[in-house]
Amino acid sequence: MRHVLAAAALLAGATVASAQPETVRWYKGNTHTHTLNSDGDSTPDDVVRWYRSHGYQFLVLTDHNFLTSVDGLNALHGADEKFLVVKGEEVTDAVAGKSLHINGLDVANRVAPQGGTSVVDALQRNVDAIRRENGVPHINHPNFRWSITREELQQVRNNRLLEIFNGHPQTNNEGGGGMPGLEEVWDAILSNGTLLYGIAVDDAHVFKDPGNPDVAGPGRGWIVVRAPRLESRALLAAVERGDFYASTGVELSDYTASNTRMTVAVKPTAFSKYRIQFVGRGGRVLREAADVSASYDFRGDEGYVRARVLESNGRMAWCQPSMVRPAPASSGSMVFIALLAVAGCCGARMTRR
Ligand SMILES: [Zn+2]
Ligand SMILES: [Zn+2]
Repeated sequence: MRHVLAAAALLAGATVASAQPETVRWYKGNTHTHTLNSDGDSTPDDVVRWYRSHGYQFLVLTDHNFLTSVDGLNALHGADEKFLVVKGEEVTDAVAGKSLHINGLDVANRVAPQGGTSVVDALQRNVDAIRRENGVPHINHPNFRWSITREELQQVRNNRLLEIFNGHPQTNNEGGGGMPGLEEVWDAILSNGTLLYGIAVDDAHVFKDPGNPDVAGPGRGWIVVRAPRLESRALLAAVERGDFYASTGVELSDYTASNTRMTVAVKPTAFSKYRIQFVGRGGRVLREAADVSASYDFRGDEGYVRARVLESNGRMAWCQPSMVRPAPASSGSMVFIALLAVAGCCGARMTRR
């Protein structure tokens, strides 16, 4: 069962004492970054230096249709349990005038854009090609050029990750003009019973113009992953089972979900105040706490439960959803919770779609 850990200090990179046999740590990373190998403005070396010196533990380099070797970078900058560069690619495709960008994290070989007869067909073909190269796909910035609708995202199979925040200034995270924002899209897909985990990324291209909000600079969105060690397969397995939160500046000190309850606690900063919201089917707020920690006990009829933290200066953290189902008649009044996890989970009640 994921998220079943004793409450403990869960600072990025900090060791967590838990009842689990395995020591679990939290690692901060960015899974979407560009360099001079596509349309970024800096060398891979300079890009890696930026993240290593700004408190990250891992970085995935994802140039457009280019797989940058990371062996030399890790020889220079990698350090056990301190920093890791993971190879990756932003498979960059176009169908019917739509921009389709799908990241392949830790792909074994470069994946050429696959094309297709429709947006859904091309997305699926690219996701499948990334899986064939043993990579983990994530679908990027659906609202960039308003390219991918909720209905189209809903139809893609074997993809578990969706960007719900992208730091590039043209990715339209909030929606507008009648188009839904990415969190609204995420809630609609979850409400339909399809499990997707939401990630926040930089999509950084520009490292030579710091502080300019009109360029795609670094440090805007990231994930914090709970994993047994700082190694690419361990990190990605944790991400694909939803053992992480996404953030634009809120750090959590505790985040657990059992089969009956979700608990979130913020590591507060001096001048901020916080709201913690638990969200269910249709994006409905099930509970809001004006506090730095809160719990929610599942009733069984929520469809799913996820949590988000709103900070008083606009920063956010997003926890991952647990799918919640009513008890089958044979189970009496017990609440039946189906955690639709992908891998690495145990428990007879796990199901998958
Ligand atoms: Zn892109
Ligand atoms: Zn990109």
